[in-house]
Amino acid sequence: MLNEIQLAIASITGAKSIAEGLVAERDTLKLTELATTLNARLIDAQASVLAIQRDQALLNDELARLKKENAELTDRLKRVERTGQQYADYELTSIASGHCVVYAAKPDETGMCKPPYLCATCLQNGKHSALNFEMGTQKDPGRRFVCPVSAAHTLKLPRGGWTLQNVGQTLKDG
Ligand SMILES: [Zn+2]
Repeated sequence: MLNEIQLAIASITGAKSIAEGLVAERDTLKLTELATTLNARLIDAQASVLAIQRDQALLNDELARLKKENAELTDRLKRVERTGQQYADYELTSIASGHCVVYAAKPDETGMCKPPYLCATCLQNGKHSALNFEMGTQKDPGRRFVCPVSAAHTLKLPRGGWTLQNVGQTLKDG
């Protein structure tokens, strides 16, 4: 862009000295020649200005894109920080009488690790995925915890009357 500005200034300066020459010159043929050169210089200057404007437009687009990207990344970072605080005291825990390993809050005074539980596989990848408790269906019996990220992370619960209320009961009473 700096180069284009220099070109534009050079063209305009050139045009100015030609115009001064025109005033001094009396020869018709020479006048026509100078006028043609003057026109050419002005066209050059115009082309340089257009190129500058085009570069400016591209830079403005790029600036707008970067501002948008920055806002999105800032939002994402805030969300990650909030999630991190929300689950700060979570630790790797066995629930469902030791059959499922999840990340859960420390047990409360009743010995209960309350949901939500986080998928251990996802957390190893730095992702906080809250597991969903699902009742079995006739076609697919057995209660389970389903990870919203991948069906491969599903934790099947052993047979028993599991509910979201009792599944996190710790084994402190044997
Ligand atoms: Zn998962």
